[in-house]
Amino acid sequence: MASQEEVFKKMVSHCKEYGFVFPSSDIYDGLAAVYDYGQMGVELKNNIKKYWWDSMVLLHENIVGVDAAIFMHPTTWKASGHVDAFNDPLIDNRDSKKRYRADVLIEELIAKYDEKIEKEVEKAAKRFGDKFDAEMFKTTNPRVLEYAAKRDEIHDRYKKAMNANDLAELKQIILDYEIVCPISGTRNWTDVRQFNLMFTTEIGSTADGTSKIYLRPETAQGIFVNYLNIQKTGRMRIPFGIAQIGKAFRNEIVARQFIFRMREFEQMEMQFFIKPGTEMDWFAHWKQFRLKWHKALGLGDAKYRFHDHDKLAHYANAATDIEFEMPFGFKEVEGIHSRTNFDLSQHAKYSGKKIEYFDPETNESYTPYVIETSIGVDRMFLSIMCAAYNEEALENGETRVVLNLPPVLAPVKAAILPLVKKDGLPEKAREIMDGLKFDFKCVYDEKDSIGKRYRRQDAVGTPFCITIDHDTLNDGCVTLRYRDTMKQDRVKIEELHALIDAQVNMKNLYKKLLAE
Ligand code: ATP
Repeated sequence: MASQEEVFKKMVSHCKEYGFVFPSSDIYDGLAAVYDYGQMGVELKNNIKKYWWDSMVLLHENIVGVDAAIFMHPTTWKASGHVDAFNDPLIDNRDSKKRYRADVLIEELIAKYDEKIEKEVEKAAKRFGDKFDAEMFKTTNPRVLEYAAKRDEIHDRYKKAMNANDLAELKQIILDYEIVCPISGTRNWTDVRQFNLMFTTEIGSTADGTSKIYLRPETAQGIFVNYLNIQKTGRMRIPFGIAQIGKAFRNEIVARQFIFRMREFEQMEMQFFIKPGTEMDWFAHWKQFRLKWHKALGLGDAKYRFHDHDKLAHYANAATDIEFEMPFGFKEVEGIHSRTNFDLSQHAKYSGKKIEYFDPETNESYTPYVIETSIGVDRMFLSIMCAAYNEEALENGETRVVLNLPPVLAPVKAAILPLVKKDGLPEKAREIMDGLKFDFKCVYDEKDSIGKRYRRQDAVGTPFCITIDHDTLNDGCVTLRYRDTMKQDRVKIEELHALIDAQVNMKNLYKKLLAE
């Protein structure tokens, strides 16, 4: 069986081969950590964004949207703390000349101990069969206890070092636990240094009139600087939220794992403004709602977990990640943060404007607290692709590559396939397509054998294939083939719309989200 790593590599080439994701400026051999979405990718991406936007803005009367500019007044980033504190600890290996994030090297080591523990548990579970008590085993098995102690020891030192911004101690941890460079295999490390992740550029047309500005590293600040505008013009009453989808830019030290860590990416963020003191309740509320949003897609509940932050960002008093099980481990897809009144207070201080909320019920004014939900479109895209990509062994010995995408997100909902290119079948097929195409993204394909055409659609995750044959002209029925089961049903043309709609309409997900 292919390893997870091999499957991941194949999935990445599949993304290119079928028009989902291309390296940016491909004809010039690409640009590191920047990608373009092709004809299939853009549809999937747009569907993800629609699912998010509607779930936040359409389903919540008290959430409205905004579309702020990427360029912002440079003082924004001074106020937000990004100029001084949006850094990652960087370390170089002198032999391979490769650059790493010191925190990531240590986190990977910690994760290795967790994996070792899981392996012991799995082995023991096999040995003991039904009688096996995993919890008991974890608290008594000497080897597991040894691994856990080591993991906790590293974790404690790491947490302290990160919170104290102690770069020398981070290096010492790397040395003490003999972390080696995966490329050179050596421990010839430089000191750990801070590296600011913001890109800069210049605004203004004359040399002396130019001034340095930043490409926003998060979309959130575009929401904070519009808090007053939106609260006043929208007559918003607390609690309320502002949602935004847009590009963000980070000069990431190490760009790896395809679209997992990019230098230009897209975020979907919502800032929820609340009364101080209510933040823990709202934090819990949004954690649950966001997890429900992910799970409703049906990629498998076991693939998600929460991961609480050890090091809180400079603005947060609680933070958790929703992690998804990628082929390279559980990884953050979304962050949920309780940001206190940090951002609004800072903007008030730096702008000299009063940024407060007047509560008409209590006649009090206060600076609202904020709960943020922040998810990367590209990471969400990657998690869906990883879960959907399957190489299936068929009964006849062949392998089919299929994307088991959630039908609501699939780029193409139905393929319309006349069995042959003559005898009036193409005309009938076009007529059927005309009846569906205003509601569902359809493609028409008459080239190659029907088997090949089915495979092409499986490879891009089209949930329905509709085949028009000679009988269609007499009985008004078509063959409806389902992607996942490959089952084929003979159905009436008039029934097609409802059958497809039942699977691909986002309304079904929205209802799930609103159900208790
Ligand atoms: P990481 O720890 O992986 O660097 P982060 O904690 O800095 O991520 P946030 O600042 O919380 O990330 O950003 C919110 C979301 O934006 C992340 O959960 C992720 O989905 C997405 N994101 C952040 N950085 C990138 C990136 N370089 N490429 C793609 N998506 C990103």
